[in-house]
Amino acid sequence: MTQFEQNLQKAEAFLQRFRDNPAPHFIAGTITLGRSGRTFDNISPLDNSVMGEVAEGSAADIDAAATAAWDAFPAWRDMSPKERKRILHRLADLIERDAEEIALLESLDTGQPIRFMSKAAIRGAANFRFFADRAPQARDGQALPMDSHINYTLRTPIGPVGVITPWNTPFMLATWKIAPALAAGCTIVHKPAEWSPLTAVKLAELAQEAGIPDGVWNMVQGLGEGAGKALTEHPHIKALAFVGESQTGSLIMAQGAPTLKRVHFELGGKNPVIVFNDADLDRALDAVVFMIYSLNGQRCTSSSRLLIQKDIEAEFLDRLAERVSKVRVGHPLDPATEVGPLIHKKHFNKVMSYMQIAREDGAEIRVGGAAREDLAPGNYVIPTLFANARNDMRIAQEEIFGPVLTAIPFTDEAEALQLANDVQYGLTGYIWTRDVGRAHRLAQRMDAGMIWVNSENNRHLPSPFGGMKASGIGRDGGDYSFEFYMETKNICIALGDHPIPKLGV
Ligand code: NAD
Repeated sequence: MTQFEQNLQKAEAFLQRFRDNPAPHFIAGTITLGRSGRTFDNISPLDNSVMGEVAEGSAADIDAAATAAWDAFPAWRDMSPKERKRILHRLADLIERDAEEIALLESLDTGQPIRFMSKAAIRGAANFRFFADRAPQARDGQALPMDSHINYTLRTPIGPVGVITPWNTPFMLATWKIAPALAAGCTIVHKPAEWSPLTAVKLAELAQEAGIPDGVWNMVQGLGEGAGKALTEHPHIKALAFVGESQTGSLIMAQGAPTLKRVHFELGGKNPVIVFNDADLDRALDAVVFMIYSLNGQRCTSSSRLLIQKDIEAEFLDRLAERVSKVRVGHPLDPATEVGPLIHKKHFNKVMSYMQIAREDGAEIRVGGAAREDLAPGNYVIPTLFANARNDMRIAQEEIFGPVLTAIPFTDEAEALQLANDVQYGLTGYIWTRDVGRAHRLAQRMDAGMIWVNSENNRHLPSPFGGMKASGIGRDGGDYSFEFYMETKNICIALGDHPIPKLGV
């Protein structure tokens, strides 16, 4: 049997339970289908058939989950951080044990190629290990002495937290948010995306097996406007960690306002990769291709705008077009596949609508521009390259979130900077040049939370992760995550008998 055939067989076996029974919630340590018993369909990206049902969480289910998180909070907060560390490492062990199952389910559920999902499962475990190791230091603060007093700070967990995640790499993103929350001493209610419900169930089950006490980890399936909205409005929830679209971020901010929620948003992007004529063009080409055609282009940090210096444009685009036309589209469980089907028919239609928009805008469709009809009814798109675009075109301004790259020429550094910043988003930027001064100048002036120079997206977990402008609020990673999930408290102690102003004497 080939690896592909083995993957198919194993994935079908793992999926069987979700064909037989709806993907459930996990509330107060119990697997449940919720109060209403209502469900919705989970649709396969492979052919748009129904893969199974999903429990549709209601406000009552959110209330049960938030109440469980509220009740479990004091004991989890007061548990020795060393013990939390031990439990979270145990969870990482279990994720590694079941990494193959997680990767196969994730691939089937999202259409993301297995070559990327197997790494995403392992990265999920790494996220837990990283924050587990930091749990004992999470409460550490500063000593701020004065002549007459000593101030010291310490951090305490903020309370139950709502975690709302998207469908593009659901397992990895859930761990990225939940791991620091739990390490800090918060309890959580997780609402996974309605288009990718499966691995959230697996993750909650492993959390219980690892020994995370009942109520510390709750997960409610459901729709954004239903369970999601109820979570953002619940008074027991003190903070919202959200990853998703910028528009949804605005809604969540408004929904959370009456209960004064602290929010952390990781939102959309329209990230530039700037390639100068002095760059190592072979490496730049590899990175340009990887950073838009990996993960089906459904990647917030993807460089979806190529800014290419005019004097190398023709040659670079020739080489790029050749590579793009060879990107292998196929079944997500085939190890050879580089681009799989898009997550959902609605998203596929959105991505496909930009093919027409590109024509109307007057851009050249250099590669692709169509669906893979031979793979219908799956949501397969031919990897696409738009050339001769201008930055004011919709294909240059709007997040398409598919395997679609827009190439725009520039003449000099000043123009490159102007084009890079002329979008509503500011998540990442990529610069390819051998001129060190220019790299620093641009990196300092680009409106983006994360800049990579002569590199594709390369993550270091202590580094800050997040965006500017419409791409987000707040940073994750290392201590930045603890800043969000914890309150900083200042304690001021008099060292002696300093003079106290006397009133009413
Ligand atoms: P989305 O905003 O449609 O949905 C994300 C989550 O929010 C889902 O769980 C959804 O059910 C929920 N939701 C929707 N409406 C809600 C509401 N009114 N109240 C509460 N919850 C609600 O996003 P998506 O389409 O699932 O994901 C793709 C988007 O996510 C892209 O824009 C992408 O750039 C972004 N993203 C950003 C990052 C980052 O780190 N910046 C990472 C991954 C994805």
